[in-house]
Amino acid sequence: MAEKRDYYEVLGVGKNASDDELKKAYRKLAKKYHPDMNPGDQDAAEKFKEASEAYSVLSDHDKRAQYDQFGHAAFEQGGGFGGFDFNSANMGDIFGDIFGDLFGGGASSRRNSNGPMRGANVRTSVNITFEEAVFGCTKQIELNLREPCPTCSGSGAKPGTTPQTCSKCRGTGRIVTTQRSIFGMMQTENVCPDCRGSGKIIKEKCPDCRGTGYITRRTKLNVDIVAGIDNGMSVRIRDKGEPGVNGGPRGDLLVEVRVARHPVFMRDDMDIYSTVPISFPVAALGGKIRIKTVDGEVEYDVKAGTQTDTRIRLKGKGVPSVHDKNRRGDHYVTLVVQVPTKLSREQKQTLKAYAKASGDEVK
Ligand SMILES: [Zn+2]
Ligand SMILES: [Zn+2]
Repeated sequence: MAEKRDYYEVLGVGKNASDDELKKAYRKLAKKYHPDMNPGDQDAAEKFKEASEAYSVLSDHDKRAQYDQFGHAAFEQGGGFGGFDFNSANMGDIFGDIFGDLFGGGASSRRNSNGPMRGANVRTSVNITFEEAVFGCTKQIELNLREPCPTCSGSGAKPGTTPQTCSKCRGTGRIVTTQRSIFGMMQTENVCPDCRGSGKIIKEKCPDCRGTGYITRRTKLNVDIVAGIDNGMSVRIRDKGEPGVNGGPRGDLLVEVRVARHPVFMRDDMDIYSTVPISFPVAALGGKIRIKTVDGEVEYDVKAGTQTDTRIRLKGKGVPSVHDKNRRGDHYVTLVVQVPTKLSREQKQTLKAYAKASGDEVK
C-alpha cells in the first residue's frame, strides 16, 4: 500500500486552516473529482475518496486534534479498531452539507430519502479487567436493538392495510421550491412536512410498533475481545447497529473497551511496568527474588551491588500485539531498595557492627 498522504496536503491547506478554509478546499476538490462528474475514472474516484477522508477527519475538532498529535497513526492503532469510519453519521452530514448546494436539485435522486439507506452505527461500551485485555476474552453484553416490526414487516401500517404514497411530495419525501433571484433560478429542497421524508402516509398504524415500523428488543451478544486490546479501543460488530431504511444494510455496533486499572501493573502500549521492593542485603550481596508478571511469578537473580530504582527488563512478559498475539511487549520492573523500620535486637546489633566496620557513626 502506498504511503498515506498528509491530510492537509491532500486538501492543499495550511495546518492552521480554519473550518471555512477546509470546507472551501474540500468543495473544490469534491467538485473536481466527484464520481458523477468523472464516470468510470478510477483515479478521480480515488482522489475523491482521499479528499473526503481528509475532510471528514479535519472537519471534526476531536479527530483533527488527534490527527495533529499522532498523524495517521491516530486512526490506525489496532487495525480494525478505532479505524477511520467512512460510514459515520458525521460523513452523511458532510455530504448533505457540501453537496446540498453543490449539486442543487440535480443530486436529489441520489439523496432521495426513499432509496435504500444504511442504518446508523450504534456505540456501546464494555468493562474488562487488565488481564482480560492482555489475554483477550469473550464478553456478553446486553443492549436494546431496533428491529423491523414483525407484525407489519416494518411498514408501520396496520396488518391488512398498506401505507399510501404521500400526495404532497408524490412519494419523494422532499419538497423542492424554485425561486427567482439575482443569481437566476434558485432551488431549495426541504423534507416533506406531511410524511416527514418517508414518502408514505400511514392511515391506520400498526398497533405493535405504533406506526414506526420498528420494535426494540433486548438482545444478548457475545463480543470477542482480541488479546492486547487497550483502553478506549473499539470492537466492531458488523450489522448489529440500527436497521437500514428501505432495504439498506444495518449499521454496525461499535463496542468501546474500558480496561480497569490494575493494583500492581501499569501499561503503556505493549509494555507493562511495575515496582518491586528488595531488601538492602539482597541489593548489596545479590540474591533471588520472585516477581509478579501477567504470566504468574518468575524468579529473578538480583546482581550484587544493585542500586535503588534500577530498572530491569523481563523480555516478552508484556502485552501481545493486537495484530499478532505471539509478538509481545516487555515487562519493566523498577527495583526499590527498602529501608527496614522494625528491627529486632539481633538485627540492630548486626547492623551496628556493619556501621562500625564502614566507619559510620550511628545511634
Ligand atoms: Zn408494526
Ligand atoms: Zn411527503
